[in-house]
Amino acid sequence: MELINTCRPDDAATAYSTSLHWLLSVGYRHRPRQGCTCTEQNCPVPGAHPRPDSPVYVGPELIVQELEQSPGAGIIAWTTRFDALVLPRSVGLATMAALDQIAQVPCIVTDDAVTLLVLPATGRFARTFHPDLEVRSGRSNWIALPPSHGTRWDTPPWVPQTSTPVALLHGVDVGCRLGGPSSPESSSELAGSNPLPPTTTPSE
Ligand SMILES: [Zn+2]
Repeated sequence: MELINTCRPDDAATAYSTSLHWLLSVGYRHRPRQGCTCTEQNCPVPGAHPRPDSPVYVGPELIVQELEQSPGAGIIAWTTRFDALVLPRSVGLATMAALDQIAQVPCIVTDDAVTLLVLPATGRFARTFHPDLEVRSGRSNWIALPPSHGTRWDTPPWVPQTSTPVALLHGVDVGCRLGGPSSPESSSELAGSNPLPPTTTPSE
């Protein structure tokens, strides 16, 4: 069983705030059969976007209080501790398959998008690798975190069974894998090590 239950808003917000030190806000609320509290008739991301008046929380106590009073509310993270690479779902899924071979890259999936997290201020270096990539970076950008409506972690941002954050990759290292497996040259670059030297057989 996972240590952190990201299906529970209060547990999730506490972990995002305490273990990862992410800056958080509470989003709009998704209400079954009544839609999003932003009141836009066909809101494409019900509950999973920030309110203009929402405070930014640095610790867990106040956001947990607000979430308890806001059933169905989204949890918003401002992109200060990471950059977010937002990809169309099909491109994102192919990228995840390629990344699985090399590292644990935190990844959120929705019905139509995949969001990968990389080191802060490095997302722009991934831009040249794919035309459909949207980079979110800095204090004025945000992503919706699970359990915001319609979002789930495919790969969580902490080491399995712990609350230790995973080390994020540089935008280039994820960028060169956007859309699927990369060329052999870039794989060995990322591994940061040369191929093993030929083994010498001791002479008999
Ligand atoms: Zn809305």
